[in-house]
Amino acid sequence: MVENMSGKIVIIGGGFAGQQACNALRRSQEHILLIDPNPGPTMLPALPDLAGGWVPERLVRRPFREILPANVEHLQATVSSIDLDSGTVQADDRTLAYDYLLIAPGSVPNFYDSPFPHEQMHALGTLADARRIRREFEEYLGRTESPHLLVAGTGYTGLELAMSLFFRAKAAGKSCGVTIVDPKPVLLPSLPDRQRRYVLDFLVAQGAEVRLGVAVESFDGRNAVAGGKTYPNVFFCWAAGSKLAVPEIKGRIAQVRDGRLKVAPDLSLPNYPHVFAAGDAAAIERNGQPLRKAVNFAYYGGRRAGQNIARRLRGRPTRPFRPVDLGWVVPFRETSIGRLFGGLWVRGRLGVRLHHLMCGVRNYSFKNFAGCLQLALNPNLGANT
Ligand SMILES: Cc1cc2nc3c(=O)[nH]c(=O)nc-3n(C[C@H](O)[C@H](O)[C@H](O)COP(=O)(O)OP(=O)(O)OC[C@H]3O[C@@H](n4cnc5c(N)ncnc54)[C@H](O)[C@@H]3O)c2cc1C
Repeated sequence: MVENMSGKIVIIGGGFAGQQACNALRRSQEHILLIDPNPGPTMLPALPDLAGGWVPERLVRRPFREILPANVEHLQATVSSIDLDSGTVQADDRTLAYDYLLIAPGSVPNFYDSPFPHEQMHALGTLADARRIRREFEEYLGRTESPHLLVAGTGYTGLELAMSLFFRAKAAGKSCGVTIVDPKPVLLPSLPDRQRRYVLDFLVAQGAEVRLGVAVESFDGRNAVAGGKTYPNVFFCWAAGSKLAVPEIKGRIAQVRDGRLKVAPDLSLPNYPHVFAAGDAAAIERNGQPLRKAVNFAYYGGRRAGQNIARRLRGRPTRPFRPVDLGWVVPFRETSIGRLFGGLWVRGRLGVRLHHLMCGVRNYSFKNFAGCLQLALNPNLGANT
């Protein structure tokens, strides 16, 4: 049975994009239904640090009930499919009709068709994943004579996680081998050669083995083979890609390879003017390429999508989303690489501090902000969390 919402607006996902849309719609008279399986949002950029035990969990989350505007109701459920032609979403066992929809569920790790036992692989997409990695890595260190970390994927998540866990092992007095593999021939492909060399030199100086052009060929839950070499009794992390978090979307849509939805300049779907997508769910093209997945684009994109829904409700024309790239920083615990607004490169401890600062600025409360600020001033403060 299709349930008609008393209000008309449904938002899927209460991350950076979904929350900003809620805020943009706070003054509308409409009842908004926010569907999200979690009790609150998570500061995803802090997850590699959390997995390594460098950041306390209280700084990366806050319940929706403390932050959502009064006209937003949170339904704790997972959307498994969207039918754009009938205007309905399937949330757990409920079929809900909408008049206006924002698709902002973010992305989830992509295991592709890998036949390896997923339950023994450690992917990092949620708070639960970070908690699990933290717990299981500590157990692994405790019971393993010669620990070895195998990480598939040389994007920022894979490299940050590798270094966070490596330094955790070091802090625990364990010498932990690290192997990072990727079928692609280069790591962090969007970086210029010089900056990439800097990252590679840092990883190698820590003793990491970086094998590019190499895939994991087998993994039985304990031992792995990559590029013909056997790695016994590994702690295996999977950071080889991500995909759209809603598995099925029916309708006349166009998607890029990782499932992101192609959107019009105002973030609506081309054949569905009442449906918008933002954050990791939207493929926003710039110079013929979709923009990278980043907090900044999700934050302002979600806000613009919310404003455009409000404008549609009032019968006014929508406005285009004009993303501004404020830059990025990838922290590796002891050093970093980053590019700030204006093209300025940052490296070393400064980038680590900026990363904590940005986690604070985009955080959900003054208390969380203050905690992140303390970490920015002293990145080792979280070492005993
Ligand atoms: C480990 C990690 C590190 C990162 N580091 C950085 C960084 O340093 N800098 C940076 O700019 N970006 C970083 N990113 C990317 C950045 O976090 C994302 O681009 C951003 O969070 C996207 O915002 P969003 O609102 O689209 O999705 P999210 O913030 O992922 O929020 C999506 C929400 O939707 C909910 N949801 C998921 N599936 C469903 C479903 N089926 N039905 C209903 N709700 C659902 C989730 O519970 C979540 O609350 C990182 C990402 C990860 C995973």
